[in-house]
Amino acid sequence: MTGKREPGGPEPSRPPELRELEARARERSAGAEPGDGALVVCDNLVRVYRTEDVEVQALQGLNLTVDEGECTALVGASGSGKSTLLSILSGLDLPTAGAARVAGHDLLAMGRRERLGYRRATVGFVWQQTGRNLLPYLTALENVALPMKYTRVPRSRRTARAAELLGVLGVAHCRDRRPAELSGGEQQRVAVAVATANTPRVLLADEPTGELDTASGEDVFAALRRANEELGATVLVVTHDPLVSEQVRRTVRIRDGRTSTETLRSADRTGAEEFAVLDRAGRLQLPGDYVARYGLRGRVRLTAEDDHVGVWPDG
Ligand code: ADP
Ligand code: MG
Repeated sequence: MTGKREPGGPEPSRPPELRELEARARERSAGAEPGDGALVVCDNLVRVYRTEDVEVQALQGLNLTVDEGECTALVGASGSGKSTLLSILSGLDLPTAGAARVAGHDLLAMGRRERLGYRRATVGFVWQQTGRNLLPYLTALENVALPMKYTRVPRSRRTARAAELLGVLGVAHCRDRRPAELSGGEQQRVAVAVATANTPRVLLADEPTGELDTASGEDVFAALRRANEELGATVLVVTHDPLVSEQVRRTVRIRDGRTSTETLRSADRTGAEEFAVLDRAGRLQLPGDYVARYGLRGRVRLTAEDDHVGVWPDG
């Protein structure tokens, strides 16, 4: 199955940017070891929550690879496991099984000290609830400077960097105000500054625009883009907002605790193509609309063609 290409038809002309993304996607799914050289690698990740006698499988063998420098949107229905994944990647939660590696850190094997260092300097986090990201009794500048205190950055450098970050993220005017004196959008942009204070390799954001109106949401998303493009953070953002997922090159859809499909867009975001994610065992989840459109049920017939695999309804 190769997307929407006609079997044996001519290679459609696609922007070179999109081809490059496709080549990377192919490498991603073809490598013997998943994610060689990738910044974030989740391999068959499982997270089971057990309460009394109920068991919830929040992640059921999730595979995800993110290269350094990518800006990726994570989408999926409520309860599909997006927040669970982000908690694991942030070092707050531990998976039940599988493997997760971020910037050389093995998230399952990490000891207490490594975990602390990881959370302070390797990842940054922005929560949906604006109130959870900032300390209410500190000004914006003090909030941004605080994480650098934990990594022992000298005071003068802390202040200078905090001011610089507020400028880059478009909230320089907020520097001496406390969170209660800021709008929701301003609070979230300051939160992006806090999360990037220690130049993390990965910036995780869980529905950062969820509580905001469209215009403020766009400002916050612009701040995330800056964090990606100008501050060099690899960004992984959970969002329900189609405006956000349409603006990133790569959108990963999570369904039932697994990565189901990926959409890759060309640099100018005019072309988009959908990909399914193949796991190491060769398992593939077909998009629901394909299943419905071709009446695929139970057993499907496979045909090996020169350069693709055909999937046919049985009978
Ligand atoms: P999403 O962020 O995509 O909405 P979550 O990762 O929050 O999904 O949740 C995935 C599933 O795990 C849901 O069924 C949710 O009810 C369950 N879940 C999440 N956190 C816990 C928890 N601490 N205890 C028990 N079940 C949980
Ligand atoms: Mg969630």
